[in-house]
Amino acid sequence: MNEKQRKEQAQIKQVSSVDRKSSQDKPLSEKTTEDFAHYFQTTYTPPDIKKARKRGRDKIEVHYDFEIPEEMSKIGKGKKFLIRTYGCQMNEHDTEVMAGILSEMGYESTLDADDADIILLNTCAIRENAENKVFGELGHLKPLKLEKPDLIIGVCGCMSQQESVVNRIMQKHQQVDLIFGTHNIHRLPDLIKEAMFSKVQVVEVWSKEGDIIENLPKVRHGQIKAWVNIMYGCDKFCTYCIVPMTRGKERSRRPEDIIREVRHLAAQGYQEVTLLGQNVNAYGKDFDDIEYRFADLMNDMHKIDIPRVRFTTSHPRDFDDHLIEVLAKGGNLLDHIHLPVQSGSSEILRKMNRKYTRESYLELVAKIKKAIPNVTLTTDIIVGFPNETDEQFEETMTLMEEVGFEAAYTFIYSPREGTPAAVKKDDVPMEVKKERLYRLNDLVNKQSAESMDAYEGKVVKVLVEGESKKDETVLAGYTEKNKVVNFKGPKSIIGKIVDVKITDTKTWSLNGELVEKTAEVSN
Ligand code: SAM
Ligand code: SF4
Repeated sequence: MNEKQRKEQAQIKQVSSVDRKSSQDKPLSEKTTEDFAHYFQTTYTPPDIKKARKRGRDKIEVHYDFEIPEEMSKIGKGKKFLIRTYGCQMNEHDTEVMAGILSEMGYESTLDADDADIILLNTCAIRENAENKVFGELGHLKPLKLEKPDLIIGVCGCMSQQESVVNRIMQKHQQVDLIFGTHNIHRLPDLIKEAMFSKVQVVEVWSKEGDIIENLPKVRHGQIKAWVNIMYGCDKFCTYCIVPMTRGKERSRRPEDIIREVRHLAAQGYQEVTLLGQNVNAYGKDFDDIEYRFADLMNDMHKIDIPRVRFTTSHPRDFDDHLIEVLAKGGNLLDHIHLPVQSGSSEILRKMNRKYTRESYLELVAKIKKAIPNVTLTTDIIVGFPNETDEQFEETMTLMEEVGFEAAYTFIYSPREGTPAAVKKDDVPMEVKKERLYRLNDLVNKQSAESMDAYEGKVVKVLVEGESKKDETVLAGYTEKNKVVNFKGPKSIIGKIVDVKITDTKTWSLNGELVEKTAEVSN
């Protein structure tokens, strides 16, 4: 659904409290999906991989006309909001946008749930434990809602794009006032209005992706580093992954809008930007009027006067030679690449629909290392994909060593309803999966510690982010390769890039001393 279609239809489906409690023939606890289906007639289509694969070629419209409705522009005056964020950077950034919208409505932020007038849970659906945390939190919030009936509790993010989750919330979590999806963030003021004035449970989730809304306000977390979305959605359909269903099809922001945003951040004094997308290497594939891809965007980033540019996440399949050539220019394009491999076994990669093999991944790594000799590579790995054999897992272990990854996010496979892998029979017991994860993590720790040891006595460039969480007399920041460094220094250097000599190394961090002048710089 795009904005034009939305404006032509009444979009908000309201579940009246009468419906919610007793007007229907069955008790709520006995209701099934069908009983709720009519609520979704125009707003919600359950995730369906077949439908999702048949994505239309509808033109994505870019809108620059977002505004808060007049009647909502002061509604938050004297009130407070709290947003709890789960999951990836994309969600963190969506939270910045929602905070921006709420602030423009007059709300102030708070970290204290007891103090809040509106609480939003920005959820993640990538693994089951992420979902469990949210349901746990909803349970904790129930007494607060009973105490403060005017409190608005909302659930948004990837979980609300799933029909089963929405049904569960509607059946079992009456304390929730508002459920909206990842494509509906710009509708927040109207949705709050509905929740406030109609006192009904408001559900607005578009299963089909929306347009790109450019001029949404943002309250960024911090003034040193910033996230910049370059695209939305994912068309890769890895068989284990729910993201293509929860985030919709790939849609790229126009280059001029991204460049303007990064220039503006540079002018405001930001030292680092991270370009965000589920598969940034697919950037620009959806443009039908210009030939402009991720490598071109990185080339334009290279020309902007901002010290550090990162990007996440790269899919190995779309990582092309032009991009390697541009990244090799260095400068503000940092030599740290996060390149999720998921498995070292070509057979498992085939079953995951990753569209590359162990061999082609290794070839890509060799090309990158040749062009950028000092590159640091990190990755994501899933263990215990259905029917993964011991031998296939061993291939992941050897790949980990062969590439020399300096860090890895490692996960046990979690079946996600609506994905092809979730219906596969799986003969690997959980105990075996856990054992594999422990072994892999030992290797990851070993390789991380070894990469850290190499810094002993070296001078690195550190972007100072603030005081260390453990000790406020110590400052902490990140190197160009994203290693944490702790050292003592004046608070006045927070937000600056300084030279630090490494005196001590740990598995996941470095300790050092501030240096005035750099003799030898390594990053
Ligand atoms: N788009 C990115 C990519 O392709 O690498 C990252 C997407 S996802 C937010 C981050 C990571 O979660 C993935 O790289 C994968 O390792 C992991 N993941 C996704 N679905 C999973 C599942 N069903 N079970 C376990 N891990 C999963
Ligand atoms: Fe999920 Fe694969 Fe898309 Fe990454 S590329 S978001 S793992 S489907």
